[in-house]
Amino acid sequence: MIEISERLGRVEYAIRDIILHAREYEKTGKKLLYLNIGDPVSFDFKTPLHIKNALIDALLNDSDYYTDSEGWPELRQSIVEKEFKKKGLDLTPSDVLVTNGVSEGIDMIMGSVIEEKDEILLPGPYYPPYSSYAKFYGANINEFKIFSDGTPDVDNIRKQITSKSKAICLINPSNPTGEAFDLKSLQSIVDIAAENNLLLICDEIYDEIVFEDKFYGIGRVANDAPVILLNGFSKTYSMTGLRCGYLCINNKSRQLDSIRQSIFKLARVRIASNFPVQIAANAALNGPQDHIREMVIKLRKRRDIVFKRLNELDGVYCKKPRGAFYVFPEIDLRNRWKNDLYFVIDMLYSTGVLTVHGSGFGDSGYNHFRIVYLPNEDVLHEAMDKIELFMKNKIVT
Ligand code: PLP
Repeated sequence: MIEISERLGRVEYAIRDIILHAREYEKTGKKLLYLNIGDPVSFDFKTPLHIKNALIDALLNDSDYYTDSEGWPELRQSIVEKEFKKKGLDLTPSDVLVTNGVSEGIDMIMGSVIEEKDEILLPGPYYPPYSSYAKFYGANINEFKIFSDGTPDVDNIRKQITSKSKAICLINPSNPTGEAFDLKSLQSIVDIAAENNLLLICDEIYDEIVFEDKFYGIGRVANDAPVILLNGFSKTYSMTGLRCGYLCINNKSRQLDSIRQSIFKLARVRIASNFPVQIAANAALNGPQDHIREMVIKLRKRRDIVFKRLNELDGVYCKKPRGAFYVFPEIDLRNRWKNDLYFVIDMLYSTGVLTVHGSGFGDSGYNHFRIVYLPNEDVLHEAMDKIELFMKNKIVT
């Protein structure tokens, strides 16, 4: 028996762990409604044709060799156009590192800065890989509070900063809540990071998927603060399976000079990210953007259905998400469920509707569950009908 490392034992990913129960349920032959994974391509948001064609052409033109470890220069330039020219973060192509998805970017940043017993501040609730990678590299997690109006509790952040604190992470718009920060909130967090010599890691993978309000990225307020921005192609361009993302190191920040010099070493160790996909990603940034508007219109309708129907249920309270494609309702567990995990598992076996338990997104997620509203309206109504009967304690399947 080969023993696994203690560090591997710290890794968990609730969104995928719940799949084990789904497999059990599937064995019964009953229908499963997947409201658990944020993959647009699995629903009616397919990769746009011009992106697929760029990928096919890249292969046919033999552009499937190793490219630069930092990323294909043309793509890095296009990323600068988006993140600097449009969104305001000061960048040159040398501040950009193309990764095999944002996930790899999270891994590389955490691996580059964390020492054993460091502390990472995460918004409560948060996207789980942030804590998994942080813990894997030996850090402890401190969750900071987000008020019900979506603004961060700045005093709470300040109180949690110790000599061990290394970084603050923001996921904006948020997975799992769909909240988005206003400029004032972003500015306060930037100030805290700069004053306390903390790295500020901002994940803006849902930057284009916002509904009523305008989206404000960290670039608008970063100035010379130690900000690293993460973004990618999985969501906005429906390229989940193609695996492409990037990280951008604020060019104006002198606090980031050593990371800027050293993180590329990690990129060289894994040689390069997928070259044909980078060519497709470049086509995504420079080609037609109409699909994004269509996606947002559809998602807004779907959000409204789920939001309305959830709030009609006794014992469920749901805030209206401003972006992304998740809702994160709070549940009154009554004496019926021991905790949110039992709730989600009971709902799965009773209805076939697969969601994720809130506590998988950190301590602030207790008594919540996450629904992905990517499926079409009919499926959402079918799922909501089942959830309604389940909440009323009536037989569903
Ligand atoms: N960041 C956030 C906030 C996400 O919600 C997700 C996927 O759900 C990712 C990153 C993963 O991105 P990628 O597919 O680029 O690895």
